[in-house]
Amino acid sequence: MVEPNLSSVNGALHAIRAGKLVAIPTETVYGLGADASNSEAVQQIYELKGRPADHPLIVHVQSPLDENKTREEEWLAILSPWTRHIPESALILIKHFWPGPLTLVFEKSKSVLDCVTGGQATVAIRSPAHPLTQELLRRFGGGIAAPSANRYGRISPTSAGDVQSEFPNHPDLLILDGGPCEHGIESTILDVSGEGSPKLLRPGSISPTMIKKATGIDVVSNSRTAKQPRVSGTHLAHYAPHTALYLYSQSEIELPLAQLISQLPKAQLAVLVWEQEHIHHSEVLKAYRNNLTFIPITMDPISFARQLYRLLRDLDQGQYQGIFIPNPPNTEAWDAVRDRLQRASFGSGPSSNNHVSN
Ligand code: AMP
Ligand code: MG
Repeated sequence: MVEPNLSSVNGALHAIRAGKLVAIPTETVYGLGADASNSEAVQQIYELKGRPADHPLIVHVQSPLDENKTREEEWLAILSPWTRHIPESALILIKHFWPGPLTLVFEKSKSVLDCVTGGQATVAIRSPAHPLTQELLRRFGGGIAAPSANRYGRISPTSAGDVQSEFPNHPDLLILDGGPCEHGIESTILDVSGEGSPKLLRPGSISPTMIKKATGIDVVSNSRTAKQPRVSGTHLAHYAPHTALYLYSQSEIELPLAQLISQLPKAQLAVLVWEQEHIHHSEVLKAYRNNLTFIPITMDPISFARQLYRLLRDLDQGQYQGIFIPNPPNTEAWDAVRDRLQRASFGSGPSSNNHVSN
């Protein structure tokens, strides 16, 4: 693999000020960042990703220094260039969860560029928890617009090397290397722009139950019924490997899955199995076919999320013709992972035409 073009915070700052792109580490996934007030710079994000112009980006902002994090006026000053109105509930969420993996969608202020919001009247904002990116944001003073640093429809990057391998023809792309991402999946997105309770637009590691517990705020989970794909991650196909990815349910383990794998006698297949059931299921499935690669995976949703994209990238290196993953339990703790797996499965396979989102 090509060595990443690693950059220091100083180099990144210089590039952002000069209207160039910089890949930034966050606690969720790596972002492809540009000065959010420079439309030519933002335009390059869309070109490099191959992302349609109507898919809005998240504006990343600094957080106040530690001792001031709970002070409303500090946050209001940071948000005022971007938002027209900040509801009381949003301020409570900010004080509890920022910096962190929670994106809030506000009514936008007039000056926010259409290329950042996809022409919508709202703007998505987040303060990321990664210390290098916080340092960059503080020194820059403005907002950095960034989607995930992957090509349209593909797996989000969770390391500097992943970003480089997404854009092999752009060895000049600056990458601020902040190590592997702590959460490993994209932020929770809540719409706080309308009347009433915040609405969940994309599940992430901060769940509605965690929000209710910490703040007493009820979140409306209507992401699956929203008529318009306001959030790019809500398209059916997303986060997709080139290798065909199948989700199987526990009840299928003995028969349909076994039948499917025995119909693919020559294919090299990777079969992920919950670690507690690893030995048993490996034995059962081996009776139907040899030469399967069994990979035990954790039943802890947080660790699963952290490893998911890394695992998909590694399995997607070309040695397998199929990847089988067990459907996660139907509980809220697994919502974010299940959402990513379903989209990854829908968009998977060798043709890039299956992919409708990034
Ligand atoms: P990504 O980090 O690649 O998932 O891209 C940024 C995410 O933020 C996408 O899912 C966007 O659709 C979402 N987003 C950005 N702005 C808005 C907005 N105004 N309303 C709803 N979602 C937004
Ligand atoms: Mg993305």
